[in-house]
Amino acid sequence: MSASTMSGVELGFVEAIDEKWKLLSHYFPSKVGGRPAWLVLNPLPTADDIRCGICGKPCTFLLQIYAPLDEHERCFHRTIFLFVCRDPHCSKANDSRNVKAFRCQLGKINDFYSSEPPDESCFDSTVSHPKADDHQPLCRVCGCSGPKTCARCHRAAYCSKEHQTLDWKTGHKRVCSADPEGGNSTSSSYSVTYLFPEYELVMEEEVELGGEEPEKSEAEKMREYKEYLTAFQEKGSLLADEDASNDLDKMATATDIDREFRKFKKRVNLEPNQVLRYQRGCEPLWVSADHIPSADDLPKCSCGGERKFEFQVMPQLLYHLKVDDVGASLDWGVLAVYTCSESCQPHNDGYQQEFVWKQDFSTDTKKT
Ligand SMILES: [Zn+2]
Ligand SMILES: [Zn+2]
Ligand SMILES: [Zn+2]
Ligand SMILES: [Zn+2]
Repeated sequence: MSASTMSGVELGFVEAIDEKWKLLSHYFPSKVGGRPAWLVLNPLPTADDIRCGICGKPCTFLLQIYAPLDEHERCFHRTIFLFVCRDPHCSKANDSRNVKAFRCQLGKINDFYSSEPPDESCFDSTVSHPKADDHQPLCRVCGCSGPKTCARCHRAAYCSKEHQTLDWKTGHKRVCSADPEGGNSTSSSYSVTYLFPEYELVMEEEVELGGEEPEKSEAEKMREYKEYLTAFQEKGSLLADEDASNDLDKMATATDIDREFRKFKKRVNLEPNQVLRYQRGCEPLWVSADHIPSADDLPKCSCGGERKFEFQVMPQLLYHLKVDDVGASLDWGVLAVYTCSESCQPHNDGYQQEFVWKQDFSTDTKKT
């Protein structure tokens, strides 16, 4: 009989949530989709900070993870936010310019929240709760800082020209000026057109099973590899490409299959629904031996500190985002987030941009 041990990795899973109030800022949530529940309520990242490095359009909020650190008082609260460009054309292999990461943190005594933990048993809507739009207007579309306003009604706020245009076309045109109250009420129609579906991100520790698995035959490994790729990439760019799928058929022997990929699959099979792996200071679980960063590839933080790995977003999350389009889709194998090893205090006590490394499934596992 084999023993099971905790691996030290925290796994993230998405869960539908009815009590949406539990995802508000003062509950310090980890969540996927919807609008960001900002931790530091002011200053927020600017619209320019959040623009895609490829097309220049605003990125969409992907997820946030609440990750306080015991070693620093300034990190009593600490959250990392990820944004990604929705445009599938910006999803290029092994290129992370379409993803943005921001870290912020607060001491136990801070300007925004009580030092007492929030009451999680019920939500009192008669009390006003700390939120970012008490400090600055938020964009009606994306929930980021919205310094621009509609020129006609001067009420509706936006992060950017792009979101003002989007809002105008999807409903503001009808209510602008017509509704003296409703100028800045947020519309639910965005959840369909722009925001990702909202989930709670629940963390659990990974359990590793001891003992060695019997070695599989080469044919078996090949079959599993194909199944795996098909499952993840069904409507994605990889297998929509005829050549790529023929390539898979032509792969000579399973010894060509990337060893990193087999390691990845074996590990993920312990908990196939994981969407995130958190293990600060350790190594990501790579999907391929190609495109793994060396120390030189990881830029130092603006404080001069080294960056180290903190967590990775798994390709399973793509399922829950409902972004698949025929022939083109947002895609990744690993989104590895590297943060300042000192978790230094960000400029103006706001948000520090951190570094993301993107690794995709290898389409060329055939070595000559
Ligand atoms: Zn883009
Ligand atoms: Zn916006
Ligand atoms: Zn207006
Ligand atoms: Zn730093």
